[in-house]
Amino acid sequence: MVKDVPCMRLVIDENRCKGCNLCVLVCPYKIFREGKKPNRKGIVVPELDRPERCPNCRLRQLYGRTICGLCQLICPDQAIDWIGEEPYEHMKVAIEY
Ligand code: SF4
Ligand code: SF4
Repeated sequence: MVKDVPCMRLVIDENRCKGCNLCVLVCPYKIFREGKKPNRKGIVVPELDRPERCPNCRLRQLYGRTICGLCQLICPDQAIDWIGEEPYEHMKVAIEY
């Protein structure tokens, strides 16, 4: 049996983010995109494009350390973090041709 893969979810804390878009500039995977709409505080928080592609989401718990982490390092407001998620469930997928 394959072991469950620990994973994490990338989150932006909207209460801290000031919409500077530095994270958009530095992410090598282009996971952050400039936001479109201001939130209730008038801040345009970046959007996340398929954040599960971030190596931290998949590998941080496995290796016990931050991988890449550029976005978190550059964020002036400590608004970026990863939170634990339920392990992926292994499913049998039937593909029809
Ligand atoms: S850790 Fe690296 S790859 Fe992951 S979202 Fe941040 S900058 Fe992008
Ligand atoms: S770097 Fe931090 S404060 Fe700036 S837009 Fe990204 S999450 Fe928000």
